[in-house]
Amino acid sequence: MRLHQCTYTEVGEYLKSSVGIIIPTGSTEQHSPMGVLGTDHFCAETIAWRVGELASAMVGPSLTVGVSEHHMAFPGSMTIRPSTYIALIRDLILSLVDHGFERFLVINGHGGNTASLNAAFSEVYGEVRRGGGANAPDVRCKTMKWFQNPPSEALSLELTGHPAGGHASAAEVSVAQFADPANIKKPTKMEPEFASDDHTFYNSADFRRRFADGRIESNPTGSTPEIGRQLVETAALFFAETYRDFLADS
Ligand SMILES: [Zn+2]
Repeated sequence: MRLHQCTYTEVGEYLKSSVGIIIPTGSTEQHSPMGVLGTDHFCAETIAWRVGELASAMVGPSLTVGVSEHHMAFPGSMTIRPSTYIALIRDLILSLVDHGFERFLVINGHGGNTASLNAAFSEVYGEVRRGGGANAPDVRCKTMKWFQNPPSEALSLELTGHPAGGHASAAEVSVAQFADPANIKKPTKMEPEFASDDHTFYNSADFRRRFADGRIESNPTGSTPEIGRQLVETAALFFAETYRDFLADS
């Protein structure tokens, strides 16, 4: 179930049996000369939608732009400053709290969002406590990157030879290709073949100096939609279980 494709009556019905919702978050930022700018949100939403099917869960609207300051030296990258992102996430979650949602699982495609997501959760807890006092709802928020789980890591190593978490990894580019054929770009010869795994960088100009074609710890040239399909299924099974446990944990 996708919230934006439900009527308000359907959401009301859903809330009679569940207080859980999944929210996909990503970014609009360069992903090497071969990966589309929307790679992270295509990954997060494709997996979130599949989890929604497997776990009969509501999936909220995708947040397609994130905190990507360090990618701003590449054309097309967009960023939201952390303070804005924190406020945005807080307001979106509180809107849903108003209607009775209490469990928020954010499936995230972009590591740059993590600190702000956790800060937003803290703001949500504070607002709910101050607003509700002793009767405050038991709101709980959790975020996980789609690729940071043992089955996805293992499958990425098996199918691509590399970790899923590199920037413009074959894993994430494959998932984006599976999500939409329009995301399939001609493979480009990468130099060096496998980008450095040194994640050290500071501002956006420094990032581009260190990672000239935008990659970190990756080579997306072997990406295929079939690899993406398998990664989506594996991650979705993991997150369906995680979501059920999250709802059951009292
Ligand atoms: Zn990415």
